[in-house]
Amino acid sequence: MTAQLIDGNALSTRLRAEVAQRALALKARGITPGLAVVLVGDNPASQVYVRNKVKACEAGGLHSVLEKYDAQLSQAQLLQRIAALNADPAIHGILVQLPLPPHIDAQTVIEAISPAKDVDGFHVASAGALMTGLPGFWPCTPHGCMRMLESIGYELKGKHAVVIGRSNIVGKPMALMLLQQDVTVTICHSRTPDLKAHTLQADVIVAAVGKRKVLTADMVKPGAVVLDVGMNRDDEGKLCGDVDFAGVSQVAGYITPVPGGVGPMTITMLLVNTLQAAEASAG
Ligand code: NAP
Repeated sequence: MTAQLIDGNALSTRLRAEVAQRALALKARGITPGLAVVLVGDNPASQVYVRNKVKACEAGGLHSVLEKYDAQLSQAQLLQRIAALNADPAIHGILVQLPLPPHIDAQTVIEAISPAKDVDGFHVASAGALMTGLPGFWPCTPHGCMRMLESIGYELKGKHAVVIGRSNIVGKPMALMLLQQDVTVTICHSRTPDLKAHTLQADVIVAAVGKRKVLTADMVKPGAVVLDVGMNRDDEGKLCGDVDFAGVSQVAGYITPVPGGVGPMTITMLLVNTLQAAEASAG
């Protein structure tokens, strides 16, 4: 392998230690940063995600509350819970685990979260703040990717990045964060006719698609930085990303692994956002 690994676990350990220290400083002022995680239904993957988020909070010295509801919970009942959490001074961040059951409109629920507690960064107020360069919560996954680039001391200014995927939670905010750092950004998606023609030009490639081997070695410029956001299963059922790791790591300069790359950083940035919310509430 020629590429250097960007180790999301190691970086997370460092950042979570910083979070724990800042949480201690807040506690000394009588404030324990608190995150409420709301899960509706019994989606097995969501159950694993929320468990990991709650565990990470506890390890980082943050207070966390897991509210679990069965899939029959009505939208009105969920909105009532959100209103109560918005008003709860012990809760600084609110996360509603997606996807929600089909009878609940996810966007309505997200918009009901107070922007001051929107630690997932999905509220339109947070999206608008990112778009305009104002302070606000950044979505955790692309924010984690930015921290990974920072961790290798990569000079972004003037570089060309290709973001594959245009979702509201990963692709679009990723592109905006890179743009803020003076990167020239190309966003590709399922209707992009010749993906390879774009990726071959890129100094940085972020793959956020959800399909195995979307990015192969022949699509990568030698020395490029490759961040793999995808979470998929291979033929043996093992977790893998969007990038053909074996091939691309022979060509890229830096690469993130799956698992142990962007995944842990997403949870870490949730802790960072919750701490930031608590610090803001403390003035
Ligand atoms: P999403 O909402 O399904 O978006 C996928 C994007 O990929 C869409 O914009 C789609 O284009 C594009 N796409 C699909 N097929 C393509 C192709 N063949 N070539 C180029 N683009 C293609 O997914 P998401 O929520 O952004 O998540 C993306 C992946 O990241 C998933 O595997 C998800 O599990 C993973 N993820 C990981 C983390 C983490 O912590 N590691 C966090 C969030 C998400 P259209 O818009 O044209 O449909």
